[in-house]
Amino acid sequence: MVLLGSHVSMSAPHSVLGSVKEAISYNANTFMIYTGAPQNTRRRAIDTLKIDEAKALMAEHGLDMKDTVIHAPYIVNLGNTFKPDNFEFAIEFMTEEIRRADAIGAAQMTMHPGAHVGAGPEAAIDKIAEGLNRILTKEQNVQIALETMAGKGTEIGRSFEELAQIIERVDLCEKLSVTLDTCHIHDAGYPVRDDFDFVLEEFDRIIGLDRLKVIHVNDSKNPQGAAKDRHENIGFGEIGFDALNAIIHHPKLAHLPKILETPFVGEDKKNKKAPYLYEIDMLKKQTFNPHLLENILNDTGIE
Ligand code: FE
Ligand code: FE
Ligand code: ZN
Repeated sequence: MVLLGSHVSMSAPHSVLGSVKEAISYNANTFMIYTGAPQNTRRRAIDTLKIDEAKALMAEHGLDMKDTVIHAPYIVNLGNTFKPDNFEFAIEFMTEEIRRADAIGAAQMTMHPGAHVGAGPEAAIDKIAEGLNRILTKEQNVQIALETMAGKGTEIGRSFEELAQIIERVDLCEKLSVTLDTCHIHDAGYPVRDDFDFVLEEFDRIIGLDRLKVIHVNDSKNPQGAAKDRHENIGFGEIGFDALNAIIHHPKLAHLPKILETPFVGEDKKNKKAPYLYEIDMLKKQTFNPHLLENILNDTGIE
């Protein structure tokens, strides 16, 4: 069975238990959470996260916490060579984030490698590796799954080579893995729509397929190589349903959690609808639904 879910929220007071309930409401069998708001680093104490209740509910529904993906906040930038204080803060925060991920029991934590903010990729790659060498410990269970990035701004990780260069420089590289985001690699220039098997061969040649542990499945609003990073609902973007469906059901990726991070639907900013129940259903049926967006908006339910 395909491991398919979405990013879900984790907010007080129900925390991880609430995340599991949300995932189950989408008929998902895996999910991804930020341990707090992705744009800040305020976090609650581990003993308030309702982890045991969450695990009990997961067991009832045949879900395994090991398949859960944590996403580190995207403001953490280990690649900043200009602001030593930010770098030190990122180290401290990530050390705590690993403790939280291990307490929850997730096997993978997606992390954006960082941004060079003007110093150039070489300097940032060295700095990111230096940071990881301070953060990672032999004792941790969770792997840090460096995410492939679209290449907007000064992002590091827009090519498999950049991720390989980071991994090469890290001593405890067995604690590193990779998150492949379909929108990001399409935006970075890889032929996701036209030749995904070539993309996987490149990944295997440059990084090694055994490092691949998480797939983020998103369509893209922009053409291949646009370096933009704007996600689109499955089948409504430039990658298209057929290519994304083939990735979800790809035999080489069968064991990996696949996480949707597609946009909520609706013009009314305060009343947007989560697309995940409908997208997961469509991807399980493996048939494109041209009325998907209307169905989400009108909350028609699934058969
Ligand atoms: Fe991400
Ligand atoms: Fe992603
Ligand atoms: Zn993105």
